[in-house]
Amino acid sequence: PAATTAPKTVLITGASSGIGEATARRLAAAGHQVVLGARRVERLAALAKEIEADGGSALPHTLDVTDPLGMRSFVQAALDHYGRIDVLVNNAGVMPLSRLDALRTDEWDRMIDVNLRGVLHGIAAVLPTMTAQGAGHIVNVASVSGLRVDPTAAVYSATKHAVRALSEGLRQESRHLRVTVISPGLTHSELAETIADRDTKDAVAGQMAIAIPAAAIGEAVHYAITQPAEVDVNELVVRPTAQG
Ligand code: NDP
Repeated sequence: PAATTAPKTVLITGASSGIGEATARRLAAAGHQVVLGARRVERLAALAKEIEADGGSALPHTLDVTDPLGMRSFVQAALDHYGRIDVLVNNAGVMPLSRLDALRTDEWDRMIDVNLRGVLHGIAAVLPTMTAQGAGHIVNVASVSGLRVDPTAAVYSATKHAVRALSEGLRQESRHLRVTVISPGLTHSELAETIADRDTKDAVAGQMAIAIPAAAIGEAVHYAITQPAEVDVNELVVRPTAQG
């Protein structure tokens, strides 16, 4: 069967910049209704305005993924507005890289709270609705760091390996949910701005010359969610051709 073009209601966490923003633009341009979540609501409002000016449909809503109640309000707002939830894209993430012996333990906690707990909060908030609908699609944005480990990225990699593990567990447990992990390589965004450790920040900045546009990841999300209902795209790795 061919790819489906029926409009879907798609919730996107971390839609205020980078991959989340690019995904929202791509999906809205294809006629899907996008619900935009992040902490910087003024950015979400501006993005929603642009999408609507281009003939799309978008709902901006404040969201801190580390807060399970906030996640539930985000999902409820989507349901109140659009009446159903077809897709949740768990995209919000932070990447304050550093060596473990720098003991930046607050940053370890932050990565676990946003990159791992945040994804779990998203899953918990939409599962009852998707179960009641008898259908739904959860797209988790992991990373190439979920497939390998590099110095300064131990905790970040641990969160992304965990996202891949829990995605596979979720997939196995359900016969009506589709579960997709998208693992980007170096991609242009604001992610490296979360790095406080000077040496690590400089090293990552040096690698960004080969980074691909965030739209390349938005394209992967679009591909995964527009496959026929019986086709579940489980893993996509999208990285620069020149990345080692
Ligand atoms: P950006 O920094 O541009 O975007 C991150 C997004 O996450 C922002 O919209 C930010 O919004 C949001 N966010 C951060 N903390 C929270 C929070 N507590 N609650 C809600 N939203 C939050 O980076 P990317 O677009 O690159 O990152 C998106 C995803 O892609 C992440 O999961 C990242 O790990 C992953 N990734 C990125 C790669 C890259 O090279 N860029 C490579 C591999 C994976 P706000 O601050 O407004 O809340």
